[in-house]
Amino acid sequence: MNAMTYVESVLEKVKRMNPGEEEFQAAVTEVLHCLTPVLEKNPQYMTHNILERLVEPERQIIFSVPWMDDRGKVQVNRGYRIQFSNALGPYKGGLRFHPSVNLSIIKFLGFEQVFKNALTGRPIGGGKGGSDFDPKGKSDMEIMRFCQSFMNELSRHIGENVDVPAGDIGVGGREIGYLYGQYKKIKGASEPGVITGKGPIYGGSLGRPEATGYGLVYFVREILTHQGITLAGKRAVVSGSGNVALYAMEKLQALGVKVVACSDSHGYIYDEEGIDLEVVKTIKDVERQRISEYPLRANRGEYYPGFKKIWEVPCDLALPCSTQNEIDGKSAGKLVKNGVLLVGEGSNMSSTLEAQRIYKEQGILFAPAKAANAGGVAVSALEMTQNAMRTSWELEKVDSLLHKIMQNIFQDAMDAAAQYGHPEDLVLGANIAGFVKVADAMVAQGL
Ligand code: GLU
Repeated sequence: MNAMTYVESVLEKVKRMNPGEEEFQAAVTEVLHCLTPVLEKNPQYMTHNILERLVEPERQIIFSVPWMDDRGKVQVNRGYRIQFSNALGPYKGGLRFHPSVNLSIIKFLGFEQVFKNALTGRPIGGGKGGSDFDPKGKSDMEIMRFCQSFMNELSRHIGENVDVPAGDIGVGGREIGYLYGQYKKIKGASEPGVITGKGPIYGGSLGRPEATGYGLVYFVREILTHQGITLAGKRAVVSGSGNVALYAMEKLQALGVKVVACSDSHGYIYDEEGIDLEVVKTIKDVERQRISEYPLRANRGEYYPGFKKIWEVPCDLALPCSTQNEIDGKSAGKLVKNGVLLVGEGSNMSSTLEAQRIYKEQGILFAPAKAANAGGVAVSALEMTQNAMRTSWELEKVDSLLHKIMQNIFQDAMDAAAQYGHPEDLVLGANIAGFVKVADAMVAQGL
């Protein structure tokens, strides 16, 4: 069988075995379509049937999460943990709590995580989990009871050498604290390396909350520097106002970029003077309110309902940091029309395949999520190292390691793209560079 026929036969099986799972199918299609030249050069990957093995999660755990709300009513949500590949190390990846969560979304995220984690150069496999539980509007006690119930089941499947969860959308420092607290009660032992994103006073790493956002900006800067373009003085739009968006904006501003818009799931704010980050942080992080509060609180800027419209704001740098498929073909067209220079993905699979095609046709620089947002999980891996050593590093050390990791990812992706005849194509480069590490590890370790 030649490489192209092999890829198509695996894709056909993925469609047959995972019907209706659009996000998962899209993620697999994007990666597999980059791999034909790699398979031609490395026939051992076909002999070992690496692709068919890689698209099938090693273990899929689905469980019920019953919990009691503040009125004493019993509620039930669905919990997931997909242990996708442990070829490089313990399964590693976040937990997402959001009403949109379903099996397809967790599987696509787990699949992406395998390659992203490989790109970090750290010995971590890939996985993902979560629930359709909606943390919005829930009291602190409801969040705690939900996290405890979730961990009652999850605890039997994880461990510092087995599977190490962390945060994602809807799961931040507070949730990680409750999850870890319950894990300790169940096990009767302290095992900090079982989960990352912990508070720094009980085993977390300094710089972890900032890592995804900072890493994204370091990665974007690498691309621009390579093109002979400076970051300072550019104009940016960042969607979202969660952990990734907040720290991406913080780093952009520190490096002299003007951030004129950000958003939440209801709408976006526009501030020609540049977003006042302290105000956004207070509204979103401390008060857990909506971004529509901004104009009143900052005494400047405007609020517009409809979060997708943020992509109509003219900018040089568009950094989607909200959720998957947030830039579709139509939004990509608007960005191009308004002269965007670069799109850098902070959220996983921010751009639809159609949007990616438009960037390519129009020569827009593009930083795909699995490379650009790998800083978060990279610092999670550093947290695991610190836990294993029973130590904690200074912020400067963590930040300089993060910076180095992002530079390495850029270089590895660029090298792979050049080696396979598509110089500067970071989608291809990141997919290939990540894949080769995982595939080599699988071949080396046998069936
Ligand atoms: N949820 C983040 C991601 O998508 C971080 C995962 C982790 O730190 O394990 O990569």
